[in-house]
Amino acid sequence: MNWLKKFMIGRYGSDNLSVFLLILSIILTFASSFARNSVLMTMSYIPLFIALYRMFSKNIQKRSMESYKFAMLVSPIYSRYKRFLSRIRASKTHKYFKCTTCKTNLRVPKGKGKILITCPNCKKEFIKRT
Ligand SMILES: [Zn+2]
Repeated sequence: MNWLKKFMIGRYGSDNLSVFLLILSIILTFASSFARNSVLMTMSYIPLFIALYRMFSKNIQKRSMESYKFAMLVSPIYSRYKRFLSRIRASKTHKYFKCTTCKTNLRVPKGKGKILITCPNCKKEFIKRT
């Protein structure tokens, strides 16, 4: 493995974008073999070669910039996904409401019967069953 370490000196290596491209390539490969589509099979090599090019690239600054742009593109999707997961986890103990005036998401404990909910944002009060 020493030769690999020597070979990778000064090269960019792997990052989240490269991993994403490799996963995309694997998905396209499976999809093409499932659909028996040779065009899709050829297309599945494109993200693979881009990922390999990025890993062995010596232009580290440019690759870092690409990685940063990818992170900026993905972060809203990822944060929405994280919020969705935390809502599912909390669904046994909490109930979610949307404020009728300012549309703020409100989280209240479940199983308390009819309660008066005050929106912390606009101070609007409404009664809901939890
Ligand atoms: Zn409100």
